[in-house]
Amino acid sequence: MSIPLISRLPPLPAVRDLLNLYRLQAVKQLSQNFLLDPKLTNKLVSAAGKITDGYVCEVGPGAGSLTRIILSRNVRQLIVVEKDKRFQPPLEMLAEASDDRMSVIWGDVLSHNLRNSFPQESSCDWNDVTPNIHIIGNLPFNIATPLIIKWLCSISERSDAWAHGRVRLTLTFQKEVAERMVAPIGTSERCRLSVMVQHLCHVQHKFTIPGRAFVPKPNVDVGVVHFTPLIVPKIKAPFSLVEKVARNTFSFRQKYCRRGLEMLFPASMRAEQVQTLLRLADVDGTLRPFELSIEEFDRLCQAYSVILEKFPSLARYNSRSTDGIDDILFAEQL
Ligand code: SAM
Repeated sequence: MSIPLISRLPPLPAVRDLLNLYRLQAVKQLSQNFLLDPKLTNKLVSAAGKITDGYVCEVGPGAGSLTRIILSRNVRQLIVVEKDKRFQPPLEMLAEASDDRMSVIWGDVLSHNLRNSFPQESSCDWNDVTPNIHIIGNLPFNIATPLIIKWLCSISERSDAWAHGRVRLTLTFQKEVAERMVAPIGTSERCRLSVMVQHLCHVQHKFTIPGRAFVPKPNVDVGVVHFTPLIVPKIKAPFSLVEKVARNTFSFRQKYCRRGLEMLFPASMRAEQVQTLLRLADVDGTLRPFELSIEEFDRLCQAYSVILEKFPSLARYNSRSTDGIDDILFAEQL
């Protein structure tokens, strides 16, 4: 299918006027903070890189302020996922103006699989260049972290949108969350999320948008983050195992990392197995969690996998859900 080189949208009312016309007041439960400044919506879409002739999914289009910028970049196809049906009139107006390039999925992005949203011919081999497929969104704060965790899991499995190759994402987060995702070793922001993001993606905090730029104004500033999935993850272990090791390691943030790592094991075997874990991984147990490199997390995950081979039922052990009873049950099973 060929598309015109320049596919300008017909003149449309300003998004601010549409919000007034349809009395679309922001709903707090859906974390609706609209970005209406054209300079900023343009800058956000530009942060995605070259999208011309590409396939885009926009999360939470609302009344369409980013949507119209995306369409004006001559994308081949745009799919938007929106939960709030009140936005039907402005989004249908945009879809009509788009020359059949835009379609709307009404639903919850958290339970939506994007695999069938992009055609097979847009795919690239995982080891090849990144496909011209992009996920863009001014995300609602209340789902931003669970959504990126879900998508990181899909990236690790090459499922969902990532069945089409290394699809890039450009998304907004509360500024503090954005800073945590890119936090280097040794910084106060370094946390489980830094490890989970950085072992799977090249991640960039592109710029910050002050809270006052949004309508209504949230109490926080907003970071725009760009993710490019890595060809080879830096930690070679299943997502759930990496998450478990990182979660336990950071459960005592200010203590030596061995304190958190002990929590991977029931009390009866803690002292011995944490020694084995650290020895196999060649990691200094007196480092603080935020001082550990991704390579050290990789070695810890490999070492934990070796221990799991010897004690398979440990895979189900979760110190947080125990009140001592699980410890006893596990000790009996091992
Ligand atoms: N893109 C618009 C803008 O920048 O002005 C709106 C952004 S607003 C921060 C978030 C949007 O996501 C809202 O339109 C809201 O209705 C929608 N939304 C909230 N939760 C959602 C969910 N679970 N799935 C899909 N959309 C959701």
